Amino acid sequence: LLKKVNNVPDVLVGASLISMVDAFPDAVVRVDEDLRVSYANRAAQRISRKDPDSLNGSTLWELYPEMVGTRLPLACYEAMESGEERDISGFYYEPFETWLDVHIIPMQPGLTIYCRDVSPIKAADRARTAITEQLQEVQDATTDGIVSINRSWRITYLNRRARDLLAPAGDLLGADIWKSFPAQVYEGSPYLTHYHQAMSEGIHGEFESYYRAPLDLWLQISVRPSLDGIIVFFRDVTARKHAEAALVQSEKLAAMGRLASSIAHEINNPLAAVTNLLYLARQSARGIPQVEHYLEEADEQLKRVSLIASQTLRFHRQSTRPCAIGCSELFTTVLAIYEAKLKEQRIKLEKRKRANKPVVCLEGEIRQVLNNLVANAIDAMPAGGRLLVRSREGTDWRTDRKGLVLTVADTGVGVDPATFARIFEAFFTTKGTGGTGLGLWISASIMERHQGRIRVRSGQGLNRSGTVVAMFLPFQTTCPISASSPTIS
Ligand code: ADP
Ligand code: MG
Repeated sequence: LLKKVNNVPDVLVGASLISMVDAFPDAVVRVDEDLRVSYANRAAQRISRKDPDSLNGSTLWELYPEMVGTRLPLACYEAMESGEERDISGFYYEPFETWLDVHIIPMQPGLTIYCRDVSPIKAADRARTAITEQLQEVQDATTDGIVSINRSWRITYLNRRARDLLAPAGDLLGADIWKSFPAQVYEGSPYLTHYHQAMSEGIHGEFESYYRAPLDLWLQISVRPSLDGIIVFFRDVTARKHAEAALVQSEKLAAMGRLASSIAHEINNPLAAVTNLLYLARQSARGIPQVEHYLEEADEQLKRVSLIASQTLRFHRQSTRPCAIGCSELFTTVLAIYEAKLKEQRIKLEKRKRANKPVVCLEGEIRQVLNNLVANAIDAMPAGGRLLVRSREGTDWRTDRKGLVLTVADTGVGVDPATFARIFEAFFTTKGTGGTGLGLWISASIMERHQGRIRVRSGQGLNRSGTVVAMFLPFQTTCPISASSPTIS
C-alpha cells in the first residue's frame, strides 16, 4: 500500500489515516498538476476498471484516452486554475458504464478526486418512479374516488375519479376541506366525526352520507389514517340509493293501495245499502213533497260522502322522510296522469323549466299539491284553453330564503272575489258534487309544513280570465318536515 503513496499530502500522512481512506466505499484519487495519479484507494482501484499497478504514475489521459475532451479533464483544469471545487455528475460511458458523482477538490500540489458510484441509487430512483407511475395509473383507473387530506385539513391529492365527482364543489387541490365542504351545509353527515377520529386517533371509519348541492350525491365513504393525515376513499352510490328509495316507496304505496282499496270496499257496501234504502224510501214517499225533498237531499249528500271518502283515502302518507327531488320529476309524474284528459278537453300544455336545483321535501305530498292544482286548472277549462306549468328559482322575501317556485296557470273561468275569499276553506267548493273542497285546504297545510307558501291570483276579464297558482318551496327547510295527513273533523 505504502508503495503507492509517493506524494501523499500532509493531511493523509499517517498509516492509520491512509488505511482509513483506503477503507472508504468511495473512490479517492490524488493527481498532481499534470493529472498524474499518485494515489488511488481501494474503491478507486475497483471503480477504475484498471490494473492497480498501472494506475500509479500514469496520467488520467494515458489511463483513459477516450476521456480527452470530455467534461472531466475540463473540470480538473478549471479546479486547478481557480482553486475552486468542481462537481460533475452523470453517466460515464466506456470503460465505467455507470452513474458517477465526481467531486474535484484542489489540494496543493494537484487535486483530490472523490468519486462515488451512484448507479444503485439511480436504479432505486428509477424503480421508485416506475412504481409511482404505476400507482398513479391504478389510482386513476379505479372507479372509486381517492382524496388525501393533510394534517392542516388541506387536500393534497385527488385521483381522476375524485376530481370528476367533486368537480361541482370547485377546484379542490390545495383547498381547505372545511371551506369546500362546510359543516353547516352538510349538517347531519357523520363525516365530521369520522374525519376527526381518523386524523387524531387513527381510527378507520366507514359510512354513507348524502352530500347536498352542489354535489347532490350519495357517497359511500371509507376514511383511513395515513402518515401525513387521512385518505378518504369514496364511491358514488346515488343510483343505488335512489333505487332503494323507489323500492321502499313503491312497497309503501302498494301497501297503502291495498289498505285503501279494502277500506273503500268495506265502505262501499254500506254506502250501496244506504243508497238503495234511500231509493226505496223515496218510492214510498211519493206524493209527500216535503219528505221527497229531504230524501233527495240525503241522496245528494250521500254522493258527497262517497266522494270525500274516496278522496280522503288517497291522502295517505307516501313518504315519511324528506328527500331531494328535481322539479321536472315532480311535474312529469303528475302531468302523466292527466295526459288523456288534457287531450280530450283540448287543453294545450306549456312547460317552462328554469330551475334545476332539487328541493328537499316529502315528494308524495308535494305531488299531491301539484296534482290538485292541475286538476283545478283542468276543471276551470271545460271548453279548452292553455295550461302553463313553470319552475324557477326564487327567494321568499319574508325570510330571504332561496327556493323553488312552481307555477300552475290556466286560461280558465277564473275566480270571482266572493269565492276567492273562501277557496282555502275546507269543504268549500263551487263544483257541487263534483268537488270536495279539500284540495286547496290540504295543499295549504302541506305547504305550511314545508315552510313554503301558496298564492293564488285570479282574474275574470271579458276576454282574459284565468288563474295563476304559485307555490314556493324552500330548498332547505330549517326544521324537519314530518308527514302527517290532515284529518277531517
Ligand atoms: P275542489 O277542487 O274540490 O273544488 P279545491 O280546494 O281544490 O276544491 O278548490 C276550491 C275552489 O277554488 C274550487 O271549487 C274552485 O271554485 C276554486 N278554484 C280552485 N282552483 C281554481 C282554478 N284554477 N280556476 C278557477 N277556480 C278555482
Ligand atoms: Mg281541487
